[in-house]
Amino acid sequence: MRSSLESVVRGAGHVLAATHVSPDPDGIGSLLALGMLLERMQVSHTLVSQDGVPYDADFLPGADTIVTDAPHDFDVAILLDCSEPRRIGAAAERLDEATVVNIDHHATNTRFGDVIRVDAGALSTSQIVHRLAGELGYSLDRRMATCLLAGLVGDTQGFRIAATDARVLDDAAALVAAGGDLGEVSRGVFGARPLGHVALWGRVLAGASQSAGVLSAQIRLADRRAAGVAEDDDAGIVNFLQSVRGTRAAVIFSEQGDSKVSVSLRSVPGVDVAAVAADFGGGGHRQAAGCTLVGDLIDVSSRVLARVRQAVDDSTLGRGSG
Ligand code: 5GP
Ligand code: MN
Repeated sequence: MRSSLESVVRGAGHVLAATHVSPDPDGIGSLLALGMLLERMQVSHTLVSQDGVPYDADFLPGADTIVTDAPHDFDVAILLDCSEPRRIGAAAERLDEATVVNIDHHATNTRFGDVIRVDAGALSTSQIVHRLAGELGYSLDRRMATCLLAGLVGDTQGFRIAATDARVLDDAAALVAAGGDLGEVSRGVFGARPLGHVALWGRVLAGASQSAGVLSAQIRLADRRAAGVAEDDDAGIVNFLQSVRGTRAAVIFSEQGDSKVSVSLRSVPGVDVAAVAADFGGGGHRQAAGCTLVGDLIDVSSRVLARVRQAVDDSTLGRGSG
């Protein structure tokens, strides 16, 4: 199929391809795989991640080609794994003159852009890029398969989330057949934490509290400083909280330097945390979402926890949509 996406990309002077702030293996893997496609199509491009490449994606081939600043001139912008344009950071202010392509799988995607490839049924953006490669007539090589597999492994937490279905496993099998190494990718995504996480987990978990199926904890700036962990790194603690028996929703509150608090949410099926995050200006998936609020840690925690408890109560009463 000659998609309009294909004509937009082939006609581009220079493409800005970007993923979201606080990037994850899906955002970075999708970005790198798209870059490899653009390379093969001989389309001039720059790969941008405002917050750089995190420890769980820096093993990916080509990771060192990603830059933090958008180029001066571009006429096409491809946003990956972003539910809304401002998720890419500062460059969102510069999209007015460009043709914008929206490739994403978030339920809360605002359907922005001129070319829209949003599939909320996909479990990773990399699954959509994988399909796109097929549509454009390109076969996968080992490097591209590795990047796409990292997105799938990251967003499904190693094929463990409830939504993992036969289509995902089929896609994963195709990526492994194309040379993606599941062991290498799993180690890169889940087995490459900086040592500082040990100290951070110790400090933060000591203060975790549980109430009516909601398990939460707070990361203070002082905790980060003491552990030597970067500001945008919440060390995956929320996934651990969600793994505790009886937890219906897990929440991590993370104090930022500028009187903001970022919030990371996880839940069991039936509890819709995307709706919770959306109420506070954020978004995500039903079982994994986030938002950033202005305020101090205590104030933000109590506001958000009240809303999370409501989502958990609604699900218990059978009113949940997650
Ligand atoms: P995490 O908790 O792993 O940072 O994010 C969970 C999910 O929610 C990811 O899919 C992420 O893209 C999304 N998400 C996190 N923070 C925000 C936010 O502030 N706005 C939106 N729209 N999505 C977010
Ligand atoms: Mn994703």
